[in-house]
Amino acid sequence: MRDLAADETLQFLSLNTGTVRKQGGLLAILDAAARHGISNVAPWRDQVHEIGLERAVRAVHDGGLRLSGYCRGGLFPTDDAHRIEVRDDNRRAVDEAVALGAPCLVIVVGGLPHFARPGSAASCDLAGARAQVADGLAEMLAYAETAGMPLALEPLHPMMAAERSCVCTLRQALDLCDAIDPSRSRGLGIALDVYHVWWDTEILSQIARVGADRMLTFHLCDWLVPTMSVLSGRGMMGDGVIEIRKLRAAVEALGFNGAYEVEVLSDHWWSRQIDEVLSVIIERYRTVC
Ligand code: ZN
Repeated sequence: MRDLAADETLQFLSLNTGTVRKQGGLLAILDAAARHGISNVAPWRDQVHEIGLERAVRAVHDGGLRLSGYCRGGLFPTDDAHRIEVRDDNRRAVDEAVALGAPCLVIVVGGLPHFARPGSAASCDLAGARAQVADGLAEMLAYAETAGMPLALEPLHPMMAAERSCVCTLRQALDLCDAIDPSRSRGLGIALDVYHVWWDTEILSQIARVGADRMLTFHLCDWLVPTMSVLSGRGMMGDGVIEIRKLRAAVEALGFNGAYEVEVLSDHWWSRQIDEVLSVIIERYRTVC
């Protein structure tokens, strides 16, 4: 297992820029990352759109930064009236990820149509939403494959099944990968986030099933007790109950050698100074991950 305490250059640490999204725009975040010696980042689409794709590409290049992923595409369930719009939005996400030099585009599949894509006709047909996800993902993969952009499917905690992701377990995500890309040759893999999967009785056996080829990106944070908000109540690594090292060992046993992406979406950490947040991340990365 990699010794993160000895990672003086932070070569295996990545900052998901959503972690400090309330403290400033993308350029300020990239500057702060550079100040702290963090050279891997994973930006969000809205942050890139705010400054424009070209400017974001230049900032990544000029800063000598590497991406560990781009957040995010997907949100497939919608109604017939919006289907083309959703398809085209996802194609733009692929194009942006290519321009930014991302190793993968993270896919959050969406839940019920009116939550996944506000403005869509309301429906509580969860099975129907899952069928749309399978179809939408297959269609998107055909486009992404041509563009050479791997798609990293991220299962989300079942508390988010209605709003954000009707794919709730790693098993479900891997079953989709097997169905859509049985030959494992088209660039469909997994974004594994400890926050969403730590509770799963099958997690270790399912991680073993992922394989090095499909293990595209790995997200770190912690699960606080109590958790006041599943959306914005994530904990800093070491402040909660997730056995991060155990999960990291399982992922490394696959042969994963990518960066560990810290994604702490939290009202608490959004209210702190950006330099304080990054200092704590680095300290926890070296001591508890
Ligand atoms: Zn994540």
